[in-house]
Amino acid sequence: MKRIRQIALITMIAVGIMPISRADEGMFPISEITRLDLTAKGLEMDPNDIFNPDKTCLVDGICRVNGCTGSFVSPRGLIITNHHCAFRAIQSASSTDHDYLNDGFQAPTPGDEIPASGYTVRVTESFSDVSDQVLSVIVPNMSFVDRTKAIERRQKELEKQAEIDNPGARAEVAEMFTGKTYVLFLYTYIKDVRLVFAPPSSIGNFGGDVDNWEWPRHTGDFSFMRAYVAPDGSTADYSPENVPYQPKRFIQVAPQGANEGNFVMLLGYPGRTARHKTSSFLRYEENTRLPYIVSLYGRQIATMQAAGENNRSVALKLLSRIQSLANTEKRSRGQLKGLKTADIAAKRAAEEIGLQSFIEQEPNRKSRYGNLLKDIDAVYSEMASHADAEANFQYLRSASQVLQLAYTLYDSSVERQKEDLERESAYMDRNFDQTRQRLLLVQKDLDIPTDQLMLENMLKQIADAGQQEPELDRLSIAQLYSGTRLSDPEFLKSCLGMTPAELAAIDDTFLQWAIRLYPKYQELRELDKEREGQLGQLYGELISVKQQFLATQFVPDANATLRLTFGTVRGYSPEDAVYMAPATTLSGVIAKTTGVEPFVTPEKVVQMHAARDYGEYAHPELNDIPIAILYDTDTTGGNSGSPILNAKGQLVGVNFDRAFEATINDFAWNTNYSRSIGVDIRYVLWITDKVYGAKQLIKEMGL
Ligand code: ASP
Repeated sequence: MKRIRQIALITMIAVGIMPISRADEGMFPISEITRLDLTAKGLEMDPNDIFNPDKTCLVDGICRVNGCTGSFVSPRGLIITNHHCAFRAIQSASSTDHDYLNDGFQAPTPGDEIPASGYTVRVTESFSDVSDQVLSVIVPNMSFVDRTKAIERRQKELEKQAEIDNPGARAEVAEMFTGKTYVLFLYTYIKDVRLVFAPPSSIGNFGGDVDNWEWPRHTGDFSFMRAYVAPDGSTADYSPENVPYQPKRFIQVAPQGANEGNFVMLLGYPGRTARHKTSSFLRYEENTRLPYIVSLYGRQIATMQAAGENNRSVALKLLSRIQSLANTEKRSRGQLKGLKTADIAAKRAAEEIGLQSFIEQEPNRKSRYGNLLKDIDAVYSEMASHADAEANFQYLRSASQVLQLAYTLYDSSVERQKEDLERESAYMDRNFDQTRQRLLLVQKDLDIPTDQLMLENMLKQIADAGQQEPELDRLSIAQLYSGTRLSDPEFLKSCLGMTPAELAAIDDTFLQWAIRLYPKYQELRELDKEREGQLGQLYGELISVKQQFLATQFVPDANATLRLTFGTVRGYSPEDAVYMAPATTLSGVIAKTTGVEPFVTPEKVVQMHAARDYGEYAHPELNDIPIAILYDTDTTGGNSGSPILNAKGQLVGVNFDRAFEATINDFAWNTNYSRSIGVDIRYVLWITDKVYGAKQLIKEMGL
């Protein structure tokens, strides 16, 4: 990766400088770190050692693990992340004979580690501002669809070129401010990732969905994975010959953990926030999209839970999907509640009144920006007027995973006829392997009776909404399922790589159905691009005029690129007369244990607690094991697995969640209620070392 380090690093001046007066809010791009005066906030290391393009730095020890974050905690590619981030890998490796979700997993030697199919790890190496290059493709009077397509194409060109110039690296152009600024990131990219250690779900997911997004919390949400590369250090698919990746830097684990009042900072890959969107967007979320998700996912989760209730082998296929939908469903409920109680849309509308009058104060400004807010409103109103019908149709594809497979096969065959840069990104040569792997994973977890039920429910929802029957061509559900071979892996593999005509010639009910539905999905894809083009242009303008109005610049919304956030371990008051202290203990786990899911605790943990057998991991004053901590950093989905670092940059815990009130972080951060939740390293180490005896990992971490 040396060559990448030599690329001239351009700081993200154009991306924005944080408003110092509110330094507690913010997912700061790494280019901004040195401006934050972290020393004054409590940092006890050189801020230049957090990110430094010229030498190894803390950031070299942080990685992205699929949609989550992880930290390298040894020189041999050992990664600590969340149990819920490794969940898919644990599930995939599990069967009724080896139920690693139930019993936990430990690889006594590297040879016992299990490949985590579909997982990738990336490490940020460098970045450069490419806004001008991206935006230069926009020409006057371009249609919105063409605008989106031209920007997409230019992003792909830049990525492809960067990967040619830096063999083995992964390039990604990230939109920082919608329609305005773009940054090209280069990553070390690792495709062989393995599962090393996972506690049983009764620890890693203690409290399950009941406690998810809640404080107080008693979940040991951690696991260990390992990154592997080819013997020559290059990135490679899984092979037994591969060797552990040697990160340039690993994060030192500090077994002392963190206590109330301590400074903490997180580095990670927060996924998406919408702090720069308008009140009309927030109303669209509040009145349209979020209620739809809560209702649909609620029913889908119930269907899958019932299917797996008395059948562990079915449950093992469905659990990952249930977990992911349940996570989104409950977060969406939290957001709905937050939007209403904190009246966030109304507050943003009030800010917009100020902005509008500023725009109207000056004739040039008025002519350029006068209709901006109204135009943005119009896009969301148009979206809201078709939203449920469009969503029903879009979610039809995911309700039935068989339809998903059929659709993706056909879509890929159409797209792969096109020139590489013209394809949808998933079908470009650089991404197609992963798409193929994902399809095979979806197929591996197919449970046809559940798929059928999910499809029936979705079709009923479409019928109840008075929508046109989606191209079933008089086929009954039973006929659809009896006439397809898509659950056969060999058949699926043989279809991958066929042309549209070849697929059309196959007598398979789901494939034929997907082909009939295809034109309608294409229409929706174009419509999305049109809206994206229009909103991209409008939001680009909005940021410009807001910068003039507020005479400041902003931190860009989260977009799955590396960010830093910092704060303090502290409690909060969610409602009148209620105070939440910022740490939980093993005694709390035991008190919550009922023996009924999701509040079951392994017998060994109960016994060791009764014997106060804590080893060196007890809290010095409490004579108890600290379990989880609460702190006021600015996080969102994607920060799962982020290291909680102390003032010296050592790892004292692993971030995994937010308090219920903080689900609203995605739209607005607030010092009163925005609290993130992490597992204390002392619990991680006690479970790993004392309870499950994985001494080799403790040693590997240099403890
Ligand atoms: N538990 C969360 C998630 O997985 C992390 C967060 O959003 O704060 O989405």
